[in-house]
Amino acid sequence: MQHHSHAVGCCPHCDAPIEERRVLITYERAGGEAMYATCPECTDVVRPE
Ligand SMILES: [Zn+2]
Repeated sequence: MQHHSHAVGCCPHCDAPIEERRVLITYERAGGEAMYATCPECTDVVRPE
C-alpha cells in the first residue's frame, strides 16, 4: 500500500484531492487561513475546499 502525503482539501472544480506539497502559498485573511494550490487534475491554481 502506497503512502500518500496529507491532503489539504479538494479542488472546487473537479473535486480531486490536493496534497500538501502542491500548496503554492498560504495567507491570512478575515476568518482564518487560506491557500492557493495547483490541482493535479485541472492543473489550475485553485483554493482547496
Ligand atoms: Zn481540479
